[in-house]
Amino acid sequence: MSDWVEWGTPQKRPSQYDVLFEPVKIGPVTARNRFYQVPHCNGMGYRDPTALAHMRGVKAEGGWGVVCTEQVEFHYTSEITPFIELRLWDDRDIPALSRMVDKIHEGGSLAGIELAYNGMNGPNLYTREVPMGPAHLPVATFTYDPVQARRMDMQDIRNIRKWHLEAVRRAKRAGFDLIYVYAAHALGFLHHFLSRRYNTRTDEYGGPIENRIRLLREITEDTKAAVGDTCAVPIRISTDELLGEGGLYKEEVEDMIGIMADLPDLWDVTLAGWENDSRTSRFAEEGAQEPFIMGVKRLTSKPVVGVGRYTSVDRMVSLVNKGVLDLIGAARPSIADPFLPKKIEEGRFDDIRECIGCNICVSGDFTMSPVRCTQNPTMAEEWRKGWHPEKVRKARSEKPVLIVGGGPAGLEAAQTLGKRGYPVLLAEAGTELGGRALQEAKLPGLSAWVRVADYRKLQLNQLANVETYFDSRLTADDVLAFGVPRIAIATGATWRKDGVGHLHTQPIAIAEGAEVLCPSDLMAGVLPKGKRVLVWDDDHYYMGGVMAELLAEKGYETLYLTPASEASTWTRNTMEQHFIQKRLIEKGVSIRNFTAVDAIAAGEATISCMFTGRQERLEADAVVLVTARLPNEALFLDLKARAAEWADAGIESITAIGDALAPATIAHATYAGRRYAEELDGEPLADGALPFKREITELLPL
Ligand code: ADP
Ligand code: SF4
Repeated sequence: MSDWVEWGTPQKRPSQYDVLFEPVKIGPVTARNRFYQVPHCNGMGYRDPTALAHMRGVKAEGGWGVVCTEQVEFHYTSEITPFIELRLWDDRDIPALSRMVDKIHEGGSLAGIELAYNGMNGPNLYTREVPMGPAHLPVATFTYDPVQARRMDMQDIRNIRKWHLEAVRRAKRAGFDLIYVYAAHALGFLHHFLSRRYNTRTDEYGGPIENRIRLLREITEDTKAAVGDTCAVPIRISTDELLGEGGLYKEEVEDMIGIMADLPDLWDVTLAGWENDSRTSRFAEEGAQEPFIMGVKRLTSKPVVGVGRYTSVDRMVSLVNKGVLDLIGAARPSIADPFLPKKIEEGRFDDIRECIGCNICVSGDFTMSPVRCTQNPTMAEEWRKGWHPEKVRKARSEKPVLIVGGGPAGLEAAQTLGKRGYPVLLAEAGTELGGRALQEAKLPGLSAWVRVADYRKLQLNQLANVETYFDSRLTADDVLAFGVPRIAIATGATWRKDGVGHLHTQPIAIAEGAEVLCPSDLMAGVLPKGKRVLVWDDDHYYMGGVMAELLAEKGYETLYLTPASEASTWTRNTMEQHFIQKRLIEKGVSIRNFTAVDAIAAGEATISCMFTGRQERLEADAVVLVTARLPNEALFLDLKARAAEWADAGIESITAIGDALAPATIAHATYAGRRYAEELDGEPLADGALPFKREITELLPL
C-alpha cells in the first residue's frame, strides 16, 4: 500500500479550455500542450544538480509541455559568479544535465536548455578571464564591479561561434529537445550585440540592424545546421528595453524578427532587463508584457511563447485565440504551482495555487540560495527533503492536532495535515482566515497577496477532517482543556514600537506625549493625528516603503528615513528597489538616506547621520516605526510554564511555528507550517544527521 496521498479529484473542464491542450509542433519536436515553462533561475545550478533535476521533474509531472533549464553558462570564459547557474563547460558537465533531462522526460515533457554566454554581464570573478563584449565597456552587473569587458575582434567572434556549437553538441548528447539561442534580458553577448546601447561597432557586426543581428543569425544558423533535424532551436529575444530609442525598442526589434522570421523554430519574447520582465504584482498586472509582444506572430510562421505571470485560464485561452501567443510561457506561475497545467486539464480550478507576484523566488537567485516560494513551500525541497507539491505522506496515527492561529503558517500546517489524514482543529481569534496575508493585502499594491489565504481556504473547504473555530482567541486554560495531544502555536507577530531593529538593539528614548505608531496600528486602521509624519525604516524589506506610500496617498506630508543607502534596500533581491524608490518620489514622499532615528519626543525626532553621528532635531507630528516585530508568544510561554500539567491534559507536544517563533517573510511562515505538518510522526533524525540531503563536490586525486 502506498505511503502517499495524492491530492485532487479530476472534474470536467469547460470545453473552451481544450485549446490549451492542443499539441504544438516546434521544429522537429512536438510539445504535448501549450504550457511552457520558460527558462528560470533558481539559485541551485551547478551546486545542487540533483535537487534541480527533481525540481524540473516535478514540473514535468505537473503537465508542462516544455520544461527548460535556467541559463547554462556554456564556456569558462564567461560566468557570473557569485550567482549560481548551471554550466556546460566540458563533457564532465553532461551527466548532471542528463539527469535533469531524464527527470523531465519521465514526466512526459520536452526538455529545453538555455545556453548563455554572459559576456559583459559576467565579471568572471571565478575564472579571472577577461570578459568580452561588442565594445570596451565596464561590465554591466548589479554590483558595479571594477572590471571592464574588452571589445571582441574577429577571432573572438569565430571562437565564440565555435564554443556555442560545441555546447550545442553537448546539449544534444545530454538529451535536450530544445536548444536555445539566448539573446534576451540584456543578460548576454547576443543581446549586447543587438542593442545600440552596447554595440558601438563600425564593422559588419555593428551599426544598422542587419549588422547588429549578424552574430545572432550566424549562431542560430550554426545551431540549426548542427542539430536542427532533431532538436528545436528557439531564439529568446527582448522586444523592448523600456529606454525609448536609446535602447532596443519594439519597432526596431520587430524589424529584427521580421528579417529572421522563420530562421528559429520558436520565438520566445520577453522584456529587458529581467527586472522589467519579472515585475512584482506591486508594479505590474498579469499580462503587462502584452503590448510589447502583440504583433510578433504576424512576423513569423513559427510558434511564439511569452510570459505575463499568467494564472487566469480565460486569459490564456484568449491569448491563443486572438493569435498573440501559441504557447503560454511561465516561470513564476510554474514555481508557485508546478501542477498548474494538470489542474487546468482536470478542471480542478480550486486547487490552483496562484503566484502572488512577490518575487521571493527571485531572491533565491540573488542570494545564491535554493529558490523558495511564498505560495509553494515544497519548491526546491523535492529531493533534499522529499516533499512534493501535490502529494503528502499518509498520517501515521489518528491523533488529532490543534493549530492555534489561521495565518499563513497555521493554514499551511492545517491543510497539509488535513491532506495527510489527521483530524485537525484550527482555532482562529478573528472572524477570517489569512492572518497577515489578509491584512497586508489591503495595503497599496499588495492585493494579490490575498491568494496566500484564498488557496488554503479553498483547500480546507475540501477537507472534512479539518474543523475551523472562529472568534476563538485561546488561552492556556483553553488549550489545556482541549485534550488534543499535539499543538502548533501559529499566533503570528506584532510590529514593535520601541525602535529596536537592525540598528538599535536596545529601545530608543521615546518621551511621554510622543505619537508613535507601527505598521500593526496602520493596518488596524489607526492613523496619525498630525500632518507631518516620519517613517523610520530599519526593516528594509517592503513594509517601510508601503507605509510611506499609504501615508502619502492619505495626504500626509511624509518623510521616509532609512539608515541604508536607499529605500527598502533588501528589495534589490526581489528586483523592486528601483520601482519602489521611483514610486515614493512620484507620490511626493521625501526620502532621506543614511539617517537614523535616535529619540522621539512630542512633535519632534532626534535623528543622526550614519557616518558622523551628528545629531539634529526634526519636526514631526508622528513617527511610524518600521523596525522589527515580536512574536505573539504569550500563549506559547504560558503553556511552556505549565508543562507539568501537559500529561494530565493528554498533551505530547506544543510547537511554535512561523512568526510566533521568529518573525520573517510570509514564505518563511508557509514553509514553517509545511515543515511541521511534513515532519509530524516522522522518523527521528539520527544523532548528527542533517534534516535534508545535499551533494558534495567530488574530490579529484591530489
Ligand atoms: P504567521 O505568518 O506565522 O502565520 P500571522 O500573524 O499571519 O502569522 O497569523 C497569526 C494568526 O493567529 C492571526 O490570524 C491571529 O488572529 C491568530 N491568533 C493570534 N493569537 C491567537 C490565539 N491566542 N488564539 C487563536 N488565534 C490567534
Ligand atoms: Fe510567485 Fe512569489 Fe512564489 Fe515567486 S515566490 S512564484 S512570485 S508566489
